[in-house]
Amino acid sequence: MSDLYHKVSNSPVGRSVVSALNLPAPVILERQSRPDAPFLEGDVLLSGAPGGSALETICTVLGASTASLFALDAKSLVTAGDIKSKTKVYSLKSDAIDEQRRFKALVFDATGISTTEDLKAVYTFFHPIIRNVAKCGRIVIVGTEPSSCRTPAMAASQKALEGFIRSVAKETGKKGITAQVIYAIPGSESHIESPLRFCLSPRSAYVSGQTLSVSKAAKSRASLDWNSPLKGKVALVTGASRGIGEAIAKTLSRDGAKVVCLDVPQAKDALESVAANIGGTTLALDITTPVAPEVISAHFEKQFDGLDIIVHNAGITRDKTLGRMPEHFWDLLVDINLSSEERINDALFANEVFNKNARIVCVSSISGIAGNVGQSNYAASKSGVIGYVESLSKQLKGGITINAVAPGFIETQMTAAIPFMIREAGRRMNSLNQGGQPEDVAEAIAFFSSPASQGVNGNILRVCGQSLIGK
Ligand code: NAP
Repeated sequence: MSDLYHKVSNSPVGRSVVSALNLPAPVILERQSRPDAPFLEGDVLLSGAPGGSALETICTVLGASTASLFALDAKSLVTAGDIKSKTKVYSLKSDAIDEQRRFKALVFDATGISTTEDLKAVYTFFHPIIRNVAKCGRIVIVGTEPSSCRTPAMAASQKALEGFIRSVAKETGKKGITAQVIYAIPGSESHIESPLRFCLSPRSAYVSGQTLSVSKAAKSRASLDWNSPLKGKVALVTGASRGIGEAIAKTLSRDGAKVVCLDVPQAKDALESVAANIGGTTLALDITTPVAPEVISAHFEKQFDGLDIIVHNAGITRDKTLGRMPEHFWDLLVDINLSSEERINDALFANEVFNKNARIVCVSSISGIAGNVGQSNYAASKSGVIGYVESLSKQLKGGITINAVAPGFIETQMTAAIPFMIREAGRRMNSLNQGGQPEDVAEAIAFFSSPASQGVNGNILRVCGQSLIGK
């Protein structure tokens, strides 16, 4: 779907009109150009609060990119000389950074912050260089999961990073810059690689002001091909004939998975065309029919050696204010958006179709976080998805994880049907001043689906350009 204002405001004439009228000018976001493009290029400035535990891992991860690493030579921060890493980190004095200097990313290890006084370290690091972040640059703080902190003072100072990063994301979003906190449970630092790569790469173009939690998990000994992380994996994507589902199918296939595309029988032609484009196969099936869970189970038992990734993407809207909502709007929507996902997963678990280290990814919505007029049914179903993911994530065994994405305004047929004024408001009311692309949601799902995301479980990640709606 097209956003005319975005196109015009990025043309030479449009740019001057937009600037003269002082209107928001959404930048063209950098997205993944090719699967083998380096996840990060350019100069990166990093540091940490003394006593932190993540900098060594951060340097090792960044060492696999083509970025050059620099550390500020500031008194109360970790300097280049303090970092024990095989990756070369150059020392840089704050007063040697002039106005023109640009950094592609700022990365800060805040795991050493244990009192509210220590918090000053984030001010000391970010204050002098925040205006030196490049267009579409990345800002990432690695902290300690507040619920795992030993003292209330530490929990307070770690939770404070969330408010800090959300504000930084709002202040810098107009330049296409994104900012996130990765919270690690102590001892899980070795699992930050996948979220760190995602947050620093163009794959997270439309994710901003978010937190991701990383927990302890068994580490795979097999080395991963980061250009084809899903090689050998079998994936099922529901609602794959168009929109976000089509983008998910394409992205999982790009990452090496064999993708089975599922949609209603009426969408068979479109479904077959999507599958043919990616060398995938189809399953034309309505997920609400009583036999659907067993049909899906049998399909992966007979045709494949089990299932590695399931993406519950199929969903509908049936908008009406509650007093005017017919009963079948409620029943059908909750059945498609929520109950069928549960039934399908139950059958896949009962029949032991999920392989070891399988990935379950659900699609929620920011409506499920904030609520929306005329969407009591939709918001209930999408909040239900969040409750389901948070609860099931605590029960899973065998390396299986479950996470959800919560998209904001994404340019699809679903949002094209929204009346013009409401659609324009939805598009612009976020830190990046634009709607997201289906690919942005697909990239977040591919990140959750990766074997490297073993420590990422029970997360709800908003893909909404930091929409002003919701928490
Ligand atoms: P879409 O273009 O309407 O695609 C959804 C697909 O799911 C359609 O092909 C649809 O088929 C299929 N589907 C519906 N009911 C089904 C059933 N019973 N069995 C199998 N397939 C079924 O929607 P989208 O915009 O890509 O959205 C995809 C997901 O993202 C949904 O869960 C949606 O709630 C969520 N989401 C979207 C946005 C957004 O801005 N677009 C924002 C937040 C969340 P039909 O042709 O029968 O409808």
